[in-house]
Amino acid sequence: MNRNRIPPELRERVRQQAGERCGYCLSRQEYVWGTLEVEHIVPLSAGGVDAEENLWLACRPCNSHKSSQTEAMDPETGQGVPLFNPRTQVWREHFAWSEDGAQIIGLTAIGRATVVALRLNDTRLVAIRRRWVEVGWHPL
Ligand SMILES: [Zn+2]
Repeated sequence: MNRNRIPPELRERVRQQAGERCGYCLSRQEYVWGTLEVEHIVPLSAGGVDAEENLWLACRPCNSHKSSQTEAMDPETGQGVPLFNPRTQVWREHFAWSEDGAQIIGLTAIGRATVVALRLNDTRLVAIRRRWVEVGWHPL
């Protein structure tokens, strides 16, 4: 992936559109060490382009687990479904926070498949979210 192909103005616009949050796990830029990455919703390797409509913001763990995937298996039905598209789909329609705020629950086939594929409830991430809940940073 050649990051330099995306002009700085476009990167900044995508950051603003995404509200400085990861489109998948909703981690806020102000809570993570690394800079949230401008990611290709449809990866370049799968024919995606550098256009605004194919770009969103993702944290390093989500982006690296997503990698070149465009679809994944819904663990409930075994069916392959597209991954969640943070630009065109609404997070709350596909996901919810667990009662303690630490885990992401997939509400739909797309949500469930994305939770598994992007490892949104990785043990370390859940532990960090528990801390965020304790200090009142999450979920907001
Ligand atoms: Zn994330």
